[in-house]
Amino acid sequence: MKVVLIGVGQAGGKVTESLAEFDYDMGFNAVRGALAVNSAEADLQNLGIDTTLIGQDRVKGHGVGGDNELGAQIMQENAVEVLDSLDGRITTEAEAVVVVAGLGGGTGSGGAPMLARELNRIYEMPVYVLGILPGKDEGGLYQANAGRSLKTAAREADSLLLVDNDAWRGTGDSVADGYERVNDAISQRVGLLLASGEAVEGVGESVVDSSEIINTLRGGGISSVGYASAEASEDAGENVNTITSVTRKALLTSMSLPNAVEAESALLVIAGDPERISRKGVERARRWVEDQTGSMEVRGGDFPLGSDKLAALVVLSGVERSDRVDQFMERANEAAKSQGNSVDPDEFTNDDLDSLL
Ligand code: GDP
Repeated sequence: MKVVLIGVGQAGGKVTESLAEFDYDMGFNAVRGALAVNSAEADLQNLGIDTTLIGQDRVKGHGVGGDNELGAQIMQENAVEVLDSLDGRITTEAEAVVVVAGLGGGTGSGGAPMLARELNRIYEMPVYVLGILPGKDEGGLYQANAGRSLKTAAREADSLLLVDNDAWRGTGDSVADGYERVNDAISQRVGLLLASGEAVEGVGESVVDSSEIINTLRGGGISSVGYASAEASEDAGENVNTITSVTRKALLTSMSLPNAVEAESALLVIAGDPERISRKGVERARRWVEDQTGSMEVRGGDFPLGSDKLAALVVLSGVERSDRVDQFMERANEAAKSQGNSVDPDEFTNDDLDSLL
């Protein structure tokens, strides 16, 4: 799937850069444009992608601190400028736009949902938000900001792809190491997902294309992605169990939003050498994903890649009813209360926790 990426805020810029690099290094060419937008000048320096500084009249390049309402306002005032700097690439090359942001901060937390809304107003193509949830040890302001941002982004985007900052962090990681590991994991998984719709080698009926990704995410709401790989035999017939076991591992242990398996729809992409892919294995794995997710709408397809390994990439869409999202919204709500906002216990679906716009 050909995309333009727009990173908003510090985390958004770093993850966008990391995704663009992964796509370039792998030679996939799914990323057709990458832009980092921020109100903090320092966070744009050292990024190897195009950058746009916004809100200079308001914050003079110093950022918004944790004020996501200000982040939203600044984006609203500057959306046209941001879109202008990308318009050529969006209209001629992209099948989707992905807005990337940490939901717990200020510029990205407020700005990403606002930008998604503007993009959706102007373009026909889907607009996705890749949103990063604060880890549970992060402070109350991050949690509260992320609650409002999540709610708003899920409404404004065609799908909100969530990554929990605790999902892939190693146990002994420092904060910086943790970010690096999470950013690498995001770029590999999301990078492969985007590229999987671009496969050209071994084109056949079973090869996944962009429309399958778009249709999987069509129901809106919240989505997640997971990935696992394993060494495979040269003989497809011996790889039935390899395919079912990498699928199980991807879904049960590696999703970007852990412990949220029930879904409205799903996509299972098996990546690897077409000669090694067992059709029987793929069929079994797909049925297993149907059972686990309770979804009748599980799409599947191959991503032909020159590799000795076989990998499973799982996308779940419509996971917002999961306990995992409710738990997070409760955490955000508690934090919002202690920040002085009196709100009642909240679910993703009700309006007790204010959205940003
Ligand atoms: P902004 O610049 O005001 O939009 O704020 P940030 O992008 O720094 O957002 C803060 C949130 O993003 C916090 O929850 C951080 O844990 C998270 N964050 C900051 N940098 C990174 C990063 O490089 N990777 C990841 N995964 N999360 C980050």
